[in-house]
Amino acid sequence: MSLYIVATPIGNLEDITFRAVRILKEVDLIAAEDTRHSGILLKHYGITTPSTSFHSHSTDAKARALAEEMRNGKSMALITDAGTPGISDPAWTLIQAALAVDVPVIPIPGPAALLAALMGSGLPMNEFVYLGFIPAKKGRQTLFESVRDETRTTVLYESPHRLTKTLSQMEPILGPDRIIVLARELTKMHETFHRGTLGALLAQAKKQPFKGEMVLVVAPENFKLNDY
Ligand code: SAM
Repeated sequence: MSLYIVATPIGNLEDITFRAVRILKEVDLIAAEDTRHSGILLKHYGITTPSTSFHSHSTDAKARALAEEMRNGKSMALITDAGTPGISDPAWTLIQAALAVDVPVIPIPGPAALLAALMGSGLPMNEFVYLGFIPAKKGRQTLFESVRDETRTTVLYESPHRLTKTLSQMEPILGPDRIIVLARELTKMHETFHRGTLGALLAQAKKQPFKGEMVLVVAPENFKLNDY
């Protein structure tokens, strides 16, 4: 009885560890955020383990039922649509449910968009803060003010259709000269890092909106372009 938390690729199917593939083959059941989406990965690696869905609309009762199955001896792997389960996705409730009935939780580390973005950003990464998704409505102003005063690199997730609005709201608060990196389509064919000032990035976004999956990496408040 165990719950393996298995990190899966964020775009490039090759980004999975040998251990992750072995665990996914060996467990009794795979709990996946979207079984159809994960089916592509599982098929690619010849993984025929049965799967069940566990997503943001799954109830606590479903989490408890799965945890009960594990307590009765089943081993399970938890995967989400991309990256490290639990990072801004619904995995956390199943981890909690497993621990509540003393099922060991075993991490199988691998990709996470926030780390890939940091790695390519060129910004200081010994210390950083990850703040998850920028809220769609409430709390944006307060969030941007905290990012303005942050002395460490800040990593945020944002959806493409809100990016221009977000940069427009950030500019007067953080100032047009704040260094920022937009990491798009990480590990995929069109992976791009846009590095520069907030003002320049906003001007570019206004000219032609950026598309694809994206991570924003904001430099510490005292970071200068020539520190780059
Ligand atoms: N658990 C995932 C992880 O480990 O990064 C994050 C899941 S969250 C639901 C999805 C968000 O992660 C996307 O909206 C985007 O901000 C970011 N993301 C995921 N894959 C990405 C990629 N290939 N390139 C850039 N950002 C990505």
